[in-house]
Amino acid sequence: MRVLRYTALFCSFFFFGSELIAQSAKADRWIAKKLPEIITEHRALVSLPNVPSRPEDMDRNAEWLRDAFEKRGFKFDILATETIPVLFAESAVDADLPTVLFYFHYDGQPVDPTAWDQDSPFVPVLKHQDEAGKWQMLEWEKTTGTIDPDWRIFGRSAADDKGPIMMFLSAVDFLRETGGKPAFNVKVIMDGEEESGSSGLLSTLEQHRERYAADHLIIMDGPAHPSNRPTLTFGCRGITGATLTVYGPRLAQHSGHFGNYAPNPVFRMAQLLATMKDEAGRVLIDGFYEGVEWDAETAAIMAAVPDDAREINDRLGVAVPEAVGRNYQESLQYPSLNIRGLTSGWTGEQTRTIVPDRAVAEIGIRLVVETDGERQLKLLRRHIEAQGYYLTDRDPTDDERQEHPKIAAFVSRKPVRAFRTELDSPTGKWLRQALEDAFGQAPVNIRTMGGTVPVTPMIEGLGVPAVIVPMVNMDNNQHSPNENLRLGNLVTGIKTCLAILSTPIP
Ligand SMILES: [Zn+2]
Repeated sequence: MRVLRYTALFCSFFFFGSELIAQSAKADRWIAKKLPEIITEHRALVSLPNVPSRPEDMDRNAEWLRDAFEKRGFKFDILATETIPVLFAESAVDADLPTVLFYFHYDGQPVDPTAWDQDSPFVPVLKHQDEAGKWQMLEWEKTTGTIDPDWRIFGRSAADDKGPIMMFLSAVDFLRETGGKPAFNVKVIMDGEEESGSSGLLSTLEQHRERYAADHLIIMDGPAHPSNRPTLTFGCRGITGATLTVYGPRLAQHSGHFGNYAPNPVFRMAQLLATMKDEAGRVLIDGFYEGVEWDAETAAIMAAVPDDAREINDRLGVAVPEAVGRNYQESLQYPSLNIRGLTSGWTGEQTRTIVPDRAVAEIGIRLVVETDGERQLKLLRRHIEAQGYYLTDRDPTDDERQEHPKIAAFVSRKPVRAFRTELDSPTGKWLRQALEDAFGQAPVNIRTMGGTVPVTPMIEGLGVPAVIVPMVNMDNNQHSPNENLRLGNLVTGIKTCLAILSTPIP
């Protein structure tokens, strides 16, 4: 009996495995055949200027996307907002199946055409890198022959975020042409103002609550891990901060007359900041890391991310990183305390022989799910007070100056929250398995990325578990001149979309 059961298990595994390999080989052949067409369609989309300061351009993008989705069987709506419309597409498969909402954006960052190595950011070009590392133009006709995965398409939004839109549409094409269909109901939001805060989309969350309702949210934006392996990002950090001003004499004083007498605010600030972190970079503020912990399995998943510490350190030009986490990924699981700017008096040719009147530090705090922004700010305030400071939220009055030996102003910013979907949540398990089956290797699982994404308020507003599926190359010059999409990432992205669309949600 036992033997039989093992045999059955082995057989079903083997069958399942070979079926997937067959599916994957079929997809590879299909993509290889269709790639010239896919590139042509992507080129047409990237040719449409998409800077939201010109709403008439955004309308042309909306109409193009309407055609692209409608011809693939989607219901399509252009949802008006006070600013740029939200585009919404929907394909119902079966009312009994769950619904997945995909998020993309169709706007791009403003452009300075003079800084681009091509005639126009909206006339996409194909390039390859020569032996000297320079990018050289290639004829588009080359795409009908053997394609080098390292060739790239240059143009504004080639990667961010029209590349992923094209990957998704191509995966839908494969399913339609091979008689398949998505394993769940599909909804798609395309934001027209991601690069400037998504205000239009956020304003529609209440009004279109029913329409946007879904069981899982997948955000297809941002760059994959530098290894270009399929990547899943399960969360990102939030952010808050404060401006801290430490006061010295009412006005800057002559350092000859008052050096040794007037307390210097720069030394005061330095002493104060030095109480906040130890030499290895760990925050010393009471309770700052409270609640941040994970189990051994999660630690192993983070350790498996193929980061090269040596390469990261070399890139940063540092010998030893801070010791907050045991590796780069772990360091992102904690809230950070950062001084992002520090000023007082004058330096260089402007140096003056003074005791300055104040020192100003801009403090940034990156947040994680466990560390609420208001709480972190309160801990920071309390820590400063515990060093003997009287805190105000403005310049001190004369009375305050006479009464308190140490005075600082503390003005905080409204926190933007972090989000995280657990790696072993139903959404996490489904996506990890889908990509592992399709690629024969676990994806790169990023538990928390360091930055803060503008769509966090949307994730919160919709209240749906969200995972970011970043697919474009890390070195895509996102937001900068010469933005580009690597063709190898275009192919992997199509396969990633296909793996997700065709894997049933357990
Ligand atoms: Zn983007």
